[in-house]
Amino acid sequence: MVDTVTPAVEPGRDFIRDIVQADVDAGRVQGVVTRFPPEPNGFLHLGHAKSICLNFGVAQEFGGRCHLRFDDTNPTKEEQLFIDSIQQDVRWLGFDWGLHLYHASDYFEQLYEWAEHLVRAGKAYVDDTPPDQMRQQRGTLTEPGQNSRFRTRTVEENLDLFRRMRAGEFPNGARVLRAKIDMASGNMNLRDPVLYRILHATHPRTGDAWCIYPTYDFAHGQSDAIEHITHSICTLEFEDHRPLYDWLIENLPVPSRPRQYEFARLNITYTVLSKRHLTRLVTEKHVRGWDDPRMPTLAGVRRRGVPPAALREFVRRVGVARAYSVVDVAMLDSAIRDTLNPSALRRMAVLRPLKLVIENYPEGQTETLEAQNHPDNPDAGARPVTFSRELYVERDDFMENPPKKFFRLSPGKEVRLRYGYFITCQSVVKNDAGDVVELRCTYDPASRGGNSPDGRKVQATIHWVSAADAVQAEVRLYSHLFNRPDPGADGDALADLNPDSLEVLTDALVEPALRDAKPGEAVQFERTGYFAADPDSQPHRPVFNRTVGLRDTWAKVATKA
Ligand code: ATP
Ligand code: MG
Repeated sequence: MVDTVTPAVEPGRDFIRDIVQADVDAGRVQGVVTRFPPEPNGFLHLGHAKSICLNFGVAQEFGGRCHLRFDDTNPTKEEQLFIDSIQQDVRWLGFDWGLHLYHASDYFEQLYEWAEHLVRAGKAYVDDTPPDQMRQQRGTLTEPGQNSRFRTRTVEENLDLFRRMRAGEFPNGARVLRAKIDMASGNMNLRDPVLYRILHATHPRTGDAWCIYPTYDFAHGQSDAIEHITHSICTLEFEDHRPLYDWLIENLPVPSRPRQYEFARLNITYTVLSKRHLTRLVTEKHVRGWDDPRMPTLAGVRRRGVPPAALREFVRRVGVARAYSVVDVAMLDSAIRDTLNPSALRRMAVLRPLKLVIENYPEGQTETLEAQNHPDNPDAGARPVTFSRELYVERDDFMENPPKKFFRLSPGKEVRLRYGYFITCQSVVKNDAGDVVELRCTYDPASRGGNSPDGRKVQATIHWVSAADAVQAEVRLYSHLFNRPDPGADGDALADLNPDSLEVLTDALVEPALRDAKPGEAVQFERTGYFAADPDSQPHRPVFNRTVGLRDTWAKVATKA
């Protein structure tokens, strides 16, 4: 079992915003500047959405600005594809960095000069210790580390070696530059952390200009300082790095003094939010790509039909805290429904069609009925739907031998066809295998529009499409990508993949109004969920993704709690 959080009823404010407010009130900052610092080694996921909404949101609320900064210090894993997708996704989510697009690589020369500054101050040294041995010398949480025998090198020797590292004289891994802090520190991050490593690799932006690259710890805070970031907001795993962040800022002639604050990462049940795992899902082809609608990436949920406002609402409901928590994925679905419900137009689509013939309806006759586009919004208008002798209804809406509580179609039973007529099932046609392949029904001509002619009631209203003009469509239904709420809790997360996360229905029939549905436009298929057209759609063969079902399981969970 995993503990899930109940959302705060009225978040709006949180401890980060309290800190920023206090800094503004006390005059400690003149203008709030934040940044969102993705490493371009994958697509953005829902966890990043939380960070984006927080960083850009705080900047907006306090009249400041938020930078988009690519943390591109590891050229072996970074690609232009990711740089482009990240910009597209941040914009899609509704945020704008204006002119403030930066890269850690913009600062490589400055960072290098600051590294030399530390060397000259006797606060950094070149270490030739092989990586294995260096790891041993680091000590453990309970034992202090040991000084490297290279720790006492002279400033001159360090400068010479560091310059030759830059000049490309040494192979990968031969030497590193380390800060000289304290090998006995209780904080492992202060045990002479590595600042620069040798990496002969072509960088997407700086090409072959560099063969030494700064570590995250050396690049991040200094980049913040260069950009005059006031509040450097990151996730809790960097809490133990904060003393190093501060040490570097204090020991370098940086132009401003940023401060780091940490909040808890977003975790969601039945979901993994780690680029390492998401990358494996893509490269090992467990999904169709980074934008597979089952992926918790922004590109994936966008393709599934989730509007950006739903993600912003989800993040708002989750709130920002320091305590570890796991959010129920039903809370995400609920935010999506609540966002789509007021605007999504209603349509009729039969996912698993069963033919229905109205025996007393004249052959060759059709008539046009009016269907409301939205039940709560008369301004959304109505559309014509064609009624005829041959229709299709949902296979699940019929049972030959129904249990007591089954109110939909069965032999002898009368139901309402949405916007249409009352019909009664008279008999069924079966194939050789004994499966029901057709329903023979009669209709009551006095019930046009679905209105009871004499006050008699029916217990169900079902949706339908007309055989004459229905459009064949492919419908893709999704369920959780993982089959347990805490994937990976017993080992490899990918062993917990749900083999049934995608169901493709190739013979669905949709009403003609859906023929030219556009990707990104959400519609509600009455009774079956919210759907959006997929980019795979062809002119006469639309493909729909189910964005989310209609049943709000979160509401149930929330009232139980
Ligand atoms: P991952 O663990 O998925 O590889 P990361 O932290 O390495 O994520 P970055 O590209 O470095 O990925 O992240 C950019 C920003 O997004 C960072 O500030 C990071 O703290 C934040 N972030 C990443 N994952 C989450 C999450 N699950 N919840 C909230 N913020 C996150
Ligand atoms: Mg990171």
